[in-house]
Amino acid sequence: MTPDIAAVKAALAHLDIEERDTAIRSASRDFFWYSPVLKPRLDHVRADFVVRPRSEAEVIEVLRVCHAHDVPVTTRGAGTGNYGQAMPLAGGCVLHLKHMDKVGEIAPGRVICEPGVLLKDLDAACRAHSGQELRMFSSTWATATIGGFVAGGSGGVGSVRWGSLRDLGNIIRLRVVTMEAEPRVLEFRGEELARVSHAYGTNGIITELEMPLAPAHDWVDLLVDFDDFDAAMGFADDLANEDGLLIKLASVYEAPIAHAYFARIKPHVTPDSNLVGLMVAPHAMDGFLTFLGRRPEGRLIWRSDAPDWDRAPGQVFEYGWNHTTLRALKVDPAITYLQVRYAFPEHRVLVRAMREEFAPEVLQHLEVIRENGKVSLAGLSLVRFTTEARLDEIIRRHEEAGALVFNPHRYTLEEGGRQKADPRQLDFKREADPKGLLNPGKMIAWDDPDWSYDAIYAWPGLRAS
Ligand code: FAD
Repeated sequence: MTPDIAAVKAALAHLDIEERDTAIRSASRDFFWYSPVLKPRLDHVRADFVVRPRSEAEVIEVLRVCHAHDVPVTTRGAGTGNYGQAMPLAGGCVLHLKHMDKVGEIAPGRVICEPGVLLKDLDAACRAHSGQELRMFSSTWATATIGGFVAGGSGGVGSVRWGSLRDLGNIIRLRVVTMEAEPRVLEFRGEELARVSHAYGTNGIITELEMPLAPAHDWVDLLVDFDDFDAAMGFADDLANEDGLLIKLASVYEAPIAHAYFARIKPHVTPDSNLVGLMVAPHAMDGFLTFLGRRPEGRLIWRSDAPDWDRAPGQVFEYGWNHTTLRALKVDPAITYLQVRYAFPEHRVLVRAMREEFAPEVLQHLEVIRENGKVSLAGLSLVRFTTEARLDEIIRRHEEAGALVFNPHRYTLEEGGRQKADPRQLDFKREADPKGLLNPGKMIAWDDPDWSYDAIYAWPGLRAS
């Protein structure tokens, strides 16, 4: 199978094709450089060309032509993923969906849209139409697409109330185009959604989504300062368990994260501040202030509905989720991160144990989430990186203690997930991408079913620089 790039470019010349070297290079990269493990391995990755379809019909045309000439296709939303998900390891075509950004029907509780619409634009359209908003979004709301969120993300702002994207009801329907001689268009609901959601575009291209909505609120951003980390963690966890109080975000930052890395917040905290960042619905503010009054150890230092700082901190969710790592990295390039799941009911105990063992090499940044109806904690811990061996050791110790680590220093689906094949995704890839041309190198089960997961997987097809 030798890809015939020239033949594909000639056949698609009437579409919006990008051939400028710098533009191709930037459309071939995402936030993989967050990881000191991925950075040296993927830095050279580059597609041969970028094509920007304007419709599902053009997507079908691109896939048909690339299939005929054995050219790999890697889909791109906005390229904000941070494990190299959107990087074309074998070169070939980057299918950039930025033009497919139409918002369709909006009805009570749901919206239909194309994949390339930005999360913020989708939210704005739903709010303007009928006072509704997305239930959850990645903290890259301002820059990321809904298609990329569903194909590459997991949850985020809103997960404290609604759980993760993979939970039933958080995606209603996906329309998908296959990579075959004659691409098919399929519609998935229910069990079938798991075939392509969080599959990195390895087995189909999502061309339309139907997503659930909730009533929109003018969320109040709050920052609460604690001297004690345990008190901060307990406050956020207990608040999320107050069933009558509607919140969209509860983040916890161990000292000295806020002082060291959050420039606009720094003047208002000390190196000993353990900070909690919150989004609370305006009608829940009375209840929230009552809750706060029962915890005199928490000091409310910022509320966006009564601003009193010279310089406002900006959206509080842009300090949370993976923005915490981004802010830390900007100040100290030696920082990297982990993605940890501390499951109910041992979540606080586990966090305490990891903190005792690793602070200050590992600093706790927690996001409160809902998982199977229980409030628990996701850790996007900040790690002071020394060597890959030490990073692996820290991950191993977390797993031995009973925490689940989704390794963000790997580019394959399995290694970034539960270290095993997902038969639903693999079976659908066999059906929908028989030549293995979609985002090659990202699904170990396809390339090496007997892989043992003892070491980092290095896809043999990774094109050399
Ligand atoms: P891309 O990065 O372009 O794509 C992601 C994956 O989906 C790739 O594998 C791509 O090939 C595939 N893909 C894209 N569109 C399609 C399609 N239409 N059909 C099939 N496959 C497709 N993630 C979270 O889940 N929660 C967070 O809170 C969060 N916070 C972040 C904060 C920062 C600062 C950064 C850098 C990243 C964060 N991320 C987070 C990761 C990422 O931003 C999100 O997952 C985002 O929603 C991805 O959208 P995107 O448009 O950039 O997708």
